[in-house]
Amino acid sequence: MPLIQTLRQLGLGGARATMQDWPGLIEAYRRWLPVSQSTPVISLREGATPLIPAPVISERIGKGVRVYLKYDGLNPTGSFKDRGMTMAISKAKEAGSEAVICASTGNTSAAAAAYARRGGMRAFVLIPDGYVAQGKLAQALLYGAEVIAIKGNFDRALAIVRDVADRYPITLVNSVNPYRLQGQKTAAFEVVDALSDAPDWLCIPVGNAGNITAYWMGFNEYRQAGHCRKLPRMMGFQAAGSAPLVLGHTVEQPDTIATAIRIGNPVNRDNALKVERESNGGFMAVTDAEIIDAYKLLGSQEGVFCEPASAASVAGLLKRRDEVPAGATVVCVLTGNGLKDPATAIEHNDSKFHTGLEADTDAVAAVMGF
Ligand SMILES: *Cc1c(COP(=O)(O)O)cnc(C)c1O
Repeated sequence: MPLIQTLRQLGLGGARATMQDWPGLIEAYRRWLPVSQSTPVISLREGATPLIPAPVISERIGKGVRVYLKYDGLNPTGSFKDRGMTMAISKAKEAGSEAVICASTGNTSAAAAAYARRGGMRAFVLIPDGYVAQGKLAQALLYGAEVIAIKGNFDRALAIVRDVADRYPITLVNSVNPYRLQGQKTAAFEVVDALSDAPDWLCIPVGNAGNITAYWMGFNEYRQAGHCRKLPRMMGFQAAGSAPLVLGHTVEQPDTIATAIRIGNPVNRDNALKVERESNGGFMAVTDAEIIDAYKLLGSQEGVFCEPASAASVAGLLKRRDEVPAGATVVCVLTGNGLKDPATAIEHNDSKFHTGLEADTDAVAAVMGF
């Protein structure tokens, strides 16, 4: 059922419901979420992100396969982390918490900062010094978080915030927080609502593996309720320099251009392996070069600007194209907005950029080839 119908069922906007009536994902999917009438809902109207057809990628796969992009970079802070954060922060508020903390490769800190501040709470974020894309750092600071950069990677930062949350009165909002996954599962609901069934494949980048776990939960809950007939194969993609789930062991020094999935020791490792088994899915590594190729393809051919980590889903689909069944429906999750990381876009593109020209019509026409 399309999102507009979801709105109508909620009695929002009446027969003339528009997306302007979208109340945010907690209200839209309230009966699927662990909230009560007394939960203070802290929302920026996240969710209801578009499922965009990808004709060029579909053509590359061939065989009548239809590829869609779930563009979660259009959430309020520019990544799917908002889905989990509206839940985690609402529940923290309900429990009377006055402060939250997280470790982050960037997007979690942006989302935690925005939602915590909106809820009147303090937000502390630990980041690996020098490995957070500039847009994300800008967001955390502008939203009013207290940012602590450590000389260590994400995995170290997470160990520290877990310790701090154990010892002091502060709520941890990393994806070990179960409410995060509850909020994130609504992306699967939206995919089914848009397609009227689950896709055959779901391709998704994997870092801590919270999102793949949440999607699987969402698809299963919807199937049990009869909203979809099938379940997708869950295809998870990690960056080759940071692929603990593919290698089967922790990576001590994870390394990739896709900083959002630069994680060597995934928090949700066991859940992820269960999803792989139950869905007959599979994890695979994609190289940074493959990620960048997909990133450029998405931008220059489909008109969709995502961040490098997000492009791992498309890089992975292209890598496994021979295995996609004819006529299949495939959804690639684009987890974050490309504007998060302008430096990577400026460094990696095939566009012509003429600089230093005289301010003169003939000079401009000449470089245009006239
Ligand atoms: C957090 C994040 C991921 C990884 O999600 P996990 O739940 O940690 O697997 C992928 N892409 C982007 C843009 C992210 O912010």
